Order: sequence, then C-alpha cells, then structure tokens
Amino acid sequence: MQIAVASGKGGTGKTLLATTLMRVLSSYGPVLIDADVEEPNAGLILGIKPDTTHEVNRPVPAIDPDRCNYCGKCAEICKFNALIVMVNQVLVYNELCHSCGACAYLCPQNAITEIGHPIGQIEQTNLAENGILITGRLNIGEAQSPPMVKAAKSKFGAAKIRIIDCPPGTTCSMIESIRNSDYCLLITEPTPFGMHDLELSLEAATMLGIPTGLVINRWQGDDYTIGELSARTGVPILARIPFSAKLAQSYMKGRDPLEAMPSLSFILSDIIKQIREALS
Ligand code: SF4
Ligand code: SF4
Repeated sequence: MQIAVASGKGGTGKTLLATTLMRVLSSYGPVLIDADVEEPNAGLILGIKPDTTHEVNRPVPAIDPDRCNYCGKCAEICKFNALIVMVNQVLVYNELCHSCGACAYLCPQNAITEIGHPIGQIEQTNLAENGILITGRLNIGEAQSPPMVKAAKSKFGAAKIRIIDCPPGTTCSMIESIRNSDYCLLITEPTPFGMHDLELSLEAATMLGIPTGLVINRWQGDDYTIGELSARTGVPILARIPFSAKLAQSYMKGRDPLEAMPSLSFILSDIIKQIREALS
C-alpha cells in the first residue's frame, strides 16, 4: 500500500503525519520517502542521520566540437531554450534542460552525447525501530525537482507499506510524488487560509485518479470551511488531530509525538483502517 501525504500549503503538519504514520506502522517494515526534496526535514523530525548517501544525476547534452557543424538543428528542437548555437560554439544551459534526449536523438552529425549532471543526493537511514527513511535532497540552485523525486521513489524496493512525504502545493514535484499512490492523505488546518491551495491539491489527486481523504490538524472544535469542502466534494474527513501545545513543543524538539499525545496512535490507526476500507 502506497500512501502519499500531501498538503495545499507548507506548515500544516504534513511531515508530522508522515513520520508518525511510519512509527505507528513500524511492525510492517515501512519505507518513508521524504520527497519534499527542496526542504526535506523528516530526518530532522525523526532525529536521525543518514547511514548512506549517493549522488543522483540526470542526463544533459554534451557537444562534440569535432563533429558539430553548428547547423542549429538542436536549438530549433529544444522546447526549453536550453541550447544556443553560435558561429563556432554550442552553449548548453543545464538548468533549463529537461533531459528529454531529443537533441541527441535528432542531431544530424551525431555530435551530441548525454552526460550526467548532478542534481542532488539520496540519503538512506535504517531506523532503530523497523523501517527505512529515504530522503531526496535537491542541490541548491537545481531547478529540476521531479527527477529527484523519481529517483527517491525508485528506492521503495519491495516494501509493503510505502509512505511519501510530498512537497506542499501543486508543483510538478508534488504531482510526481503522489503519482501511482493508492491513497492520498491531504492534511490541512481548519482555517480559511490556504483553502484555494488545498482545493488545487485535491483536484490534482482527483485528476490522477487517487482516492483521497482529509485530515484536519490543530483542530479546536470547528471544521470551518474544510467541512464545507468535504460536503461539496464527497471527500471524507478521516481524522481531526486536536491542537496541543505539548505536541507542538515535543515535535519541535524532535521527540516522538506519540509520547506527547498518546491518543495520536489511535487517531492514526483509525486513519489506516479507513484507508484499508476505502481500498477494499
Ligand atoms: S544539431 Fe548537432 S551538429 Fe547541429 S549544431 Fe546541434 S550539435 Fe551541432
Ligand atoms: S535534452 Fe531536451 S531539453 Fe535538454 S537540451 Fe536537449 S532537447 Fe533541450
């Protein structure tokens, strides 16, 4: 079962939910992917450091000056303006290249080969309790985050329980993160702020055909507009996590949220039960 944990905007408790789900499901040997590759912090929250790290590359063109006749075809083909052909030089802008491979395929002189351009690291930590955390960490200044998300998700292996801590919003990397998931948990706060972003995230999950449920975090007795959204769309509210200053403080110090709020274990077990029922 693959569960994507997403949110309309940042700071709603997405990583809290993803990491605590992992703790609750530890007997199944879950794998948690931190796909929030621009700002991964699941490791910080779990208070762990990576056991292994390896570099991730994506292919970009390299021009062979002995073969190139500067015909300009590659620049015409590239939809992303990543190539500029000058009188006796081809400039390649790796940050604009989307690694589609079209220029190398269509160059009439076979003057283009693909080389690896480093975009970030994959970190792996085997947790003391059963489970593995895989973190995708994009290099600073690297614009192409979806390939990094893909690389991180390729490390799921044969895990039966797969959890993804997605980037917030509806960026390309969020879409890549939730793609092929069995279920999407959208966590939000019961305020009007971020409702538009939440609705867009819901639309993205619906467009990909992923069943979705809502989790209200920092709940203080009123669902506000989330209740209206649920009634209007038929997307269920699976749980309400009550506001707790103790939980917030414990979370900021990297302590186990289940110790600060033992009832969270029941709330999350109930979420899992509802997801199983929805998928059966
Ligand atoms: S298409 Fe090939 S030969 Fe033409 S400018 Fe580009 S690299 Fe050079
Ligand atoms: S691989 Fe694709 S995106 Fe990159 S430079 Fe070539 S045509 Fe452009």
